[in-house]
Amino acid sequence: MHEIFDRLKQAAGPGGFSEDANEIAPYLEEWRSRMRGQTRLLLKPATTEQVSAVLAICHETGTPIVPQGGNTGLVGAQIPLHGEVLLSLKRMNRIRAVDAPGMTLTAEAGVTLKQAQDAAAGEQLLFPLSLGSEGSCTIGGNIATNAGGNHVLRYGMMRALVLGLEVVLADGRVLPMLKSLHKDNTGYDLKQLFIGAEGTLGIVTAASLRLFPHPAQMITALTAVPSPEAALALLGHMQARTGGLLSSFELISRPTLEMVLRHIPGTRDPLATSSPWYVLMEESGGAGASLEILTQSALEEAAGAEFLTDAVVAQNQAQARSFWHMRETISEAEKREGVSIKHDISVPVASIPAFIAEATAVVVEKFPGARPICFGHMGDGNLHFNFSAPVGQDAAFSAQWDEVQLTVHDIVKTYSGSISAEHGIGQMKRDLLPRYKSSEELDAMRALKHAFDPKNILNPGKTVPAVKKL
Ligand code: FAD
Ligand code: ZN
Repeated sequence: MHEIFDRLKQAAGPGGFSEDANEIAPYLEEWRSRMRGQTRLLLKPATTEQVSAVLAICHETGTPIVPQGGNTGLVGAQIPLHGEVLLSLKRMNRIRAVDAPGMTLTAEAGVTLKQAQDAAAGEQLLFPLSLGSEGSCTIGGNIATNAGGNHVLRYGMMRALVLGLEVVLADGRVLPMLKSLHKDNTGYDLKQLFIGAEGTLGIVTAASLRLFPHPAQMITALTAVPSPEAALALLGHMQARTGGLLSSFELISRPTLEMVLRHIPGTRDPLATSSPWYVLMEESGGAGASLEILTQSALEEAAGAEFLTDAVVAQNQAQARSFWHMRETISEAEKREGVSIKHDISVPVASIPAFIAEATAVVVEKFPGARPICFGHMGDGNLHFNFSAPVGQDAAFSAQWDEVQLTVHDIVKTYSGSISAEHGIGQMKRDLLPRYKSSEELDAMRALKHAFDPKNILNPGKTVPAVKKL
């Protein structure tokens, strides 16, 4: 082992490793503190060549390795749970190019999402991916998790924003797919295989990303809606009236908002009267007619049709930011409230109201006192459908973790939904997959894993469930 570690340290280059437990500690704990990892060696290469040299040694010696970006993943996929070598890409943090006329940006894997957004904005362009974790998460991690977030409705998930990739394969060879082409139909689109693969098929070292014109106008509105049915009607109405200018449509239940008001300093009830549900929406568009006037009149019509009971259009950036702050701090508020059993689910958009009604009723009946905390990207059919523990019963509720999840996920299945809309599978949901994906799909996943990583050294044990022994 000593000899392998010495070779790996050498391959990672000057300043490219650490064996100091204090330095390594923050890399081993994930955001929700539900898992703790262990490793004796942290590698921090700064170039693609160094990553390639590291992987070649791992492949040759059968040494397992776990890639990590900003460590904001929510399913434990970035944590070395069994003493694997940890590979941080954070030192690969250069923006290699911004091509303004071509509207592309080329960034190394360790560039943070915020850095990429800022580099695009510097050229009056937009990189539209937007997540609560954007100050810390990295482009490599966003690709490996196929991140979603607040602008999927308009711009798609990370998968839709990647034009090219540079990937180091398990055996150290480099797949040079870093093209900035908007069109390329030369056979299999190999880069797509690595997007959402959670570091199990290859290491992303750089990416070419798609940029958009910076919207000339941006409107943020917070509305009170009587029910998820009304929210669905409001979604259709606003899409039609703005000609598709909606970029976010976030549903938030009253108990969710109350939790934020309780725990996040500086927040206050945004509307005069309380409402069972809210929608935070954003529109962005061109330089023509005033988007604010269009929005105001569309909202007035929606009120007339009883899709909403109250609405505020943010009058300045500070007000818009304060609305978004409430949305972005929900996870933090849940954390402070205590135990929360979470589900990152999706169903067809039109089924959202029926799903909420059915799943809430079933869980509350089966687990008396469980407190529904329902919010999420309604425009994408994606809900963060969580339950906080009954007051004072954190431990007892925790003990029912698997049962609560099974109850929710089984209902999701009846709606032909997904048990992971945006956070991935990782360690946390791996063993749930066989219940919700066909054996044919799982076999195809295993075949890909074997083709790209025959020695199973890349993030072993994550994402792809093992074949059950009979
Ligand atoms: P990490 O957590 O370090 O790693 C995640 C996965 O990617 C692991 O499997 C890791 O092995 C792999 N990986 C990392 N870098 C590479 C690489 N270079 N090559 C190959 N594999 C790699 N997610 C959403 O989708 N939508 C949200 O709205 C959202 N909001 C969030 C809000 C908060 C407050 C937090 C804490 C998280 C949120 N997330 C969200 C989850 C998380 O931020 C995303 O999954 C993000 O894309 C992870 O990026 P990261 O750099 O932190 O990756
Ligand atoms: Zn989300």
